[in-house]
Amino acid sequence: MSKMRVAQVTRANGALEIVEREIPEPGAGQVRIKVEACGICHSDAMTKEGLWPGIQYPRVPGHEIAGVVDAVGVGVEGWAKGQRAGVGWHGGHCGYCDSCRRGDFVTCQVAPQVPGIAYDGGYAEYMIAPASALAAIPEGLWAVDAGPLMCAGITTFNSLRNSGAQPGDLVAILGIGGLGHLGIQFAAKMGFKTVGIARDIDKEPLAKKLGAWSYIDSKTQDPAAELLKLGGAKVVLATVTSGDAMSATLGGLGVNGKLMILGAAAEPLQVAGIPLLLGRRSIVGWPSGTSVDSQDTLSFSLLTGVRAMSEVFPLERAAEAYEHMMSGKARFRAVLTIKH
Ligand SMILES: [Zn+2]
Ligand SMILES: [Zn+2]
Repeated sequence: MSKMRVAQVTRANGALEIVEREIPEPGAGQVRIKVEACGICHSDAMTKEGLWPGIQYPRVPGHEIAGVVDAVGVGVEGWAKGQRAGVGWHGGHCGYCDSCRRGDFVTCQVAPQVPGIAYDGGYAEYMIAPASALAAIPEGLWAVDAGPLMCAGITTFNSLRNSGAQPGDLVAILGIGGLGHLGIQFAAKMGFKTVGIARDIDKEPLAKKLGAWSYIDSKTQDPAAELLKLGGAKVVLATVTSGDAMSATLGGLGVNGKLMILGAAAEPLQVAGIPLLLGRRSIVGWPSGTSVDSQDTLSFSLLTGVRAMSEVFPLERAAEAYEHMMSGKARFRAVLTIKH
């Protein structure tokens, strides 16, 4: 009873291996989560492949965590054993740096407290998190559905709701994968005139099913020209990891239009300065959000029926699930489930 199974990585580029560990006890300000589901995010490669500087191994990846509060540490207010809770990319903050003192916790200047990177994450039966990182999971939302909303979900939901777009505005979602298939749903449910953009005509029916009003196949069509025909985009939400694909949409931004970058591109963007200047267009990045933003994401998703399309694997098959996700074959999220 005092042991738990986790899927850990013992070195950069090491394999995900299932091992037994002692069940940890929460310290002051922390809770222990009995994990029910944990989504696999592309950012888990930071841990698995050792891309994040200074990771200490062995490390348990996972920051799309959904479960139940199982034990509460000293000084924790507002959370009790038995409450359903999730933890996402924003896994805590220092509370004393300039960003934190301005209430902007997600840009905390002290080493980011990402579960699965700074401390052990959700590929496990149990994990420890600061109480400040918890989002309440509403009744009616399954753990398997809540997990992917804790990173892929909040990142698209929170960027869209802070984008400045108003109901009826033209909003394009670039890329229809783990983030994009949620982005289309959120944009449609927020009342935006939603356009899906992907390099594949085969994705049009899916985009429409998810709520897209229109679709652009960027392999055979020029996304900028097509967006202009539709009146120019207020927002292009870039969920792809190709700088060229992002650059190709810039000419489709309307006046005050904004390219919001959620996916990290390897190559730099190509930007013409004059259209930015004359039309007050902008390019911005957006980093997920805090625990209460995650909670809003969960509530909105329950309310409107937004759900990730997920393939489910038991924790024991974490290595296979990870490879499936990274190969791009998952439709569209891989989620680990943990039986207790
Ligand atoms: Zn993530
Ligand atoms: Zn801080």
